[in-house]
Amino acid sequence: MSTSAFPISFEFFPTKTPEGAARHVQVRQDLYARAPQFCSVTYGAGGSTQEGTFAMVQAIQQEGVPAAAHFSCIGATREKVRMQLQQLRDMGVCRLVALRGDLPSGYGLGGEFHYASDLVAFIRQEFGDHFHIEVAAYPEMHPQARSPEADLQAFVTKVRAGANAAITQYFYNADAYARFVDDVQRLGVGIPVVPGIMPITNSSQLMRFSDATGAEIPRWIRLRLQAYGDDTASIRAFGLDVVASLCERLRALGAPGLHFYTMNQSAATLALCDRLGL
Ligand code: FAD
Repeated sequence: MSTSAFPISFEFFPTKTPEGAARHVQVRQDLYARAPQFCSVTYGAGGSTQEGTFAMVQAIQQEGVPAAAHFSCIGATREKVRMQLQQLRDMGVCRLVALRGDLPSGYGLGGEFHYASDLVAFIRQEFGDHFHIEVAAYPEMHPQARSPEADLQAFVTKVRAGANAAITQYFYNADAYARFVDDVQRLGVGIPVVPGIMPITNSSQLMRFSDATGAEIPRWIRLRLQAYGDDTASIRAFGLDVVASLCERLRALGAPGLHFYTMNQSAATLALCDRLGL
């Protein structure tokens, strides 16, 4: 399968029911038509299981598209991580999004990995260059970081441990991305930093996610969304305008690709691809 001239990728989360899995087959087919470089599947987020991630990763590979498995290490032992990575390698997976992840509230910080940088170093030590490793980047700072400078240093550490590229948390402020890329380049990091793009389709869901992830919704966007109330058509039209302009600005700033948080739906991401000529 040929890939899109401007690199794009799509993110999914594991489906929870057989009906959901069946519906998602069509979502993937619709999105494959845009020739993504790869499709990634989240791990552990929202209580999803490792089996769910591996099953969707396998399905994507069998459909002839490179799959990236998100992989979080918090709370895990080296032995367990080694076994799971061997399983992914044996499935033919060559791409990972390597993460620390978050423990459910109430759990202490157990396990043998403390940060994503520990996981990246472990993968390189055990599997050499087999995996292409992406790591997470936070242009608006990770919510638990001690300071912006400490967060930048943590990012540099995980890149030096062996990451090939980074995907950002979503954001609606292109200046934060531009500044982040400048800052890490100043610190000697030259890997591609691909913006994560969250389509806007549902106002309450977006507010909920943003509170949890620390991604800022600018006041003017928040107020417009609130004013639309239940008018889904207006929210979608406004969201498409706002996010398409953001993507255009990011491309003008030299973003090396775009990674779409599809939320397991195709319509909003396809509308954005149409608008952007992707
Ligand atoms: P790290 O890079 O380890 O950073 C975590 C925190 O520790 C930061 O505040 C950092 O500043 C700090 N830190 C790092 N190293 C050090 C150090 N040496 N000393 C002191 N402080 C340090 N979550 C899921 O559960 N499943 C997923 O599939 C998933 N996919 C994601 C994909 C992307 C592209 C992004 C951006 C996020 C994703 N997340 C996912 C969320 C992620 O797991 C959380 O944001 C998590 O809290 C941090 O993971 P990390 O890999 O960024 O951690």
